[in-house]
Amino acid sequence: MNLNLGAHVSISGGVEEAVERQNGEDGDCGQIFAGSPRTWSVSEYSDEDGEKFTEARQEEGQSPYVIHSTYLVNLGTPKDDLFQKSLDCLQAELDAASKLGVEYVVFHPGAHTGSGRENGIERISEGIDRLEIPESVTLLLENTAGKGTTLGKTMGELREMIDNAETGDGKIGVCIDTCHAHAAGYDLVTEEGFEDFLQEIEEDLGTEKVKVLHMNDSKDSRGSEKDNHQDIGYGEIGEKGFENIVNSETLNHLPMVLETPQEHRESYRKNIEKLRKLYG
Ligand SMILES: [Zn+2]
Ligand SMILES: [Zn+2]
Repeated sequence: MNLNLGAHVSISGGVEEAVERQNGEDGDCGQIFAGSPRTWSVSEYSDEDGEKFTEARQEEGQSPYVIHSTYLVNLGTPKDDLFQKSLDCLQAELDAASKLGVEYVVFHPGAHTGSGRENGIERISEGIDRLEIPESVTLLLENTAGKGTTLGKTMGELREMIDNAETGDGKIGVCIDTCHAHAAGYDLVTEEGFEDFLQEIEEDLGTEKVKVLHMNDSKDSRGSEKDNHQDIGYGEIGEKGFENIVNSETLNHLPMVLETPQEHRESYRKNIEKLRKLYG
């Protein structure tokens, strides 16, 4: 078996350029933003964009792809205007995914900002139900580092969001980010800790709900709740933690997408190479 590894790449110059960049990093799956991640703007895509992107991907054998939602989205918010803006943005991203033939849209569920955990989770589930998830797309909730009133820190909390929604279970999945899991307190490094982590995924979420992994080392210590990504092997998860992950039969068939820092000490290519070496 080969690991399915890729990176979050830029779409500047046209979405099909992402495929070329991915190829340069030696990735065979990947992730993109559909617009500018720090604004509400989502680009509109034509059928032609979709055809070009799909053709380029097929030529290079890159699958699957993920659209990462903008960082502004917060479905957990008690504020109606922010909730509505978040919905509009996510809907535009889902529609972009459908146009481009992208399989997944991933988003950070959000923060309750004072309304309380239960209210926040309910709001997120309500938000999911308001979205029209296209036939060919699966919406993914990403686990979070858990800072402040952020929701989705534990596997159980993600499951609650899915269970509270009326939307069919098959339309919603989960993306596990290794940096966020570590920051949230999960031990990916020791054999025992990693076993406990897998067990919690199985019991509290259901292993089959996990569709994508974000592979990032962490600059900060376990339980810090800080979201600072680091190159593979240079952080607190370290090579030992990633060796556990890439050799786990529960997880290693999943697409693995790197979101290592922009100011690369190591290129995506080097990170991908390292993960391939740790496997087997
Ligand atoms: Zn992530
Ligand atoms: Zn992150």
